[in-house]
Amino acid sequence: MARTAMDLYLGWLRDAHAMEKQALILIDTQIPRMNCFPEMKARLQKHRTETETQLLHIEKVLERHGSRASMVKDVAGSAMAGSQAVGGLFMSDVPVKGAQASFAFENYEIATYRTLIAAAEVCRDPAAIPVLERILEEEMQMADWLEGHVEQMSRRYMEGTDAMASGGAGL
Ligand code: MG
Ligand code: FE
Repeated sequence: MARTAMDLYLGWLRDAHAMEKQALILIDTQIPRMNCFPEMKARLQKHRTETETQLLHIEKVLERHGSRASMVKDVAGSAMAGSQAVGGLFMSDVPVKGAQASFAFENYEIATYRTLIAAAEVCRDPAAIPVLERILEEEMQMADWLEGHVEQMSRRYMEGTDAMASGGAGL
């Protein structure tokens, strides 16, 4: 059977749900690594709460269309390929690399929600648009915050590394 625009839209919503589940895992790997960067840690904790709410909102949109989020696609399948590619960046335990990966992941989320807003328009699902726009706004705020803090964090991390190398307290 041929795929309709609505099939694509619902598939992309499920992909977004899988992406947000992965976002939670990625945030949870970062939080314990940020003990030397309390501002970063607090921002990640705030975004974790936002992410949990985002998951619930996507589930509601899917349910309204008689679709479910918790399908095999969440765990396996090509749907995950994109976020896994970005997720691979989280392999390092160096906090600066984690911040880089978070910045990349937030931009991947921004691209996802921009796509979904267009898809909701094409599929005439106006009720979803404010929901998706609100999530997009949260991702943009997180990306902006990271953009504003990555350089400062890198400097502090390197200064701390030098301090440790010369026998000081370091980070
Ligand atoms: Mg998100
Ligand atoms: Fe996010």
